[in-house]
Amino acid sequence: AHLERIEAVDGDVHAFLHVDADAALAAAGRVDAKRQAGEQLAPLAGVPVAVKDNIATKGTPTTAGSRILEGWVPPYDATVVERLRGDDLVIIGKTNLDEFAMGSSTEHSAYGPTHNPWDLQRIPGGSGGGSAAAVAAYEAPLALGTDTGGSIRQPASVTGTVGMKPTYGGVSRYGALALGSSLDQIGPAARTVLDTAALHDVLAGHDRRDSTSLTGEWPSFTDAALTGRKEDSVRGLRIGVPKQIADGAGFEAGVTQRFQEALAALEERGAVISWIETPHFEYAVAAYYLIMPAEASSNLARYDSVRFGLRVTDASATTVEKVMSATRSKGFGDEAKRRILLGTYALSAGYYDAFYGSAQKVRTLVQQDFAAAFADVDVLAAPTSPTTAYKLGEKAEDPTAMYLADLTTIPANLAGVPGISVPGGLAPENGLPVGIQFMAAARDDARLYTVAAALE
Ligand code: GLN
Repeated sequence: AHLERIEAVDGDVHAFLHVDADAALAAAGRVDAKRQAGEQLAPLAGVPVAVKDNIATKGTPTTAGSRILEGWVPPYDATVVERLRGDDLVIIGKTNLDEFAMGSSTEHSAYGPTHNPWDLQRIPGGSGGGSAAAVAAYEAPLALGTDTGGSIRQPASVTGTVGMKPTYGGVSRYGALALGSSLDQIGPAARTVLDTAALHDVLAGHDRRDSTSLTGEWPSFTDAALTGRKEDSVRGLRIGVPKQIADGAGFEAGVTQRFQEALAALEERGAVISWIETPHFEYAVAAYYLIMPAEASSNLARYDSVRFGLRVTDASATTVEKVMSATRSKGFGDEAKRRILLGTYALSAGYYDAFYGSAQKVRTLVQQDFAAAFADVDVLAAPTSPTTAYKLGEKAEDPTAMYLADLTTIPANLAGVPGISVPGGLAPENGLPVGIQFMAAARDDARLYTVAAALE
């Protein structure tokens, strides 16, 4: 049914870069055979899942939305993909994204943009617009994303779906094509909080192939989501809202209205809302757009024309350096080049302390803001994005405008804490979805499923 749905709508939505119908049907057939043989199956066995195309899938092309990886077929599975296969989920295809997950609109994909199923003229968010659109358009019930500065949560917000960035280290990054390694997390997306939680249960856990992977057990996120549906699930829950967003400046009126209604609904059910100080949140975007490009410039150095994907060997490419240069010039798009330049500059001798060093200090201050906040409250709440889905092309020529829209998602990545975006209804002025974000202390992911499910 999902393959038929993809066939019917993906010409318009363009959520997928690659669909392998035969492989998906074969995988589904194997699950059926196990079921008929009376084998014990995992809870999500047989359920289709879409995978963002910056996550390695053995034998299936993985492009990261970039020309430089065109034709590359990974010889291995990411740990999360192994886990999906281990539980017999059916991988239905690979989804579109901004090149190497750099962006907030999926317009920076080398393979053309994804369209928001709510209005095909509008962006589906980014960088994981393909995963969010696939879920929103009923092309897949579940999807994987990666979130370095909001790429799971913001697409969820503007497509009326649910997206979760786990605690840093909670889900293995092995096999995720690295962007900003100290910020990246793989996480789940779905149409409901419960589905998102059930997928997170499959993904979570220690992996010795990821040196930043956390050890220890995770509670059942499915149980946490089910708890959220109970009447008294948020009674006494302390919810903090950063004071900076109190006046709604910089947010669309409909976003602020729905956010306030969400807080009121939770208050009604016994949650205690307070305004709190997070004095360094406003510097998070500036710090992030130094740290992330710095790490990206280093991570992208591996695309050297020798080891993966594209290699340009025209008449002028007479030396190894010239082949590398011609390949990288052709293989990377404008946004990737912009960030490589910015990151290389920020890391260069003489500028390192002024830029990268300062940004790292700001990062520590943001972490301290979170620590102070979570001494007083259980979760923080904010709109996921200051706007609803804007028109394709509207911000494409203005990188700074696009960067600034990440203001409420980036702090969680800088601090390594979990964040979830849950639908908060439609903005009255344009009928487009608004997302509400909750953040919690590191390792407190389960609590987010409870509060998100309570709001749902
Ligand atoms: N919009 C952010 C950026 O462009 C987030 C990207 C991400 O989370 N992968 O960097």
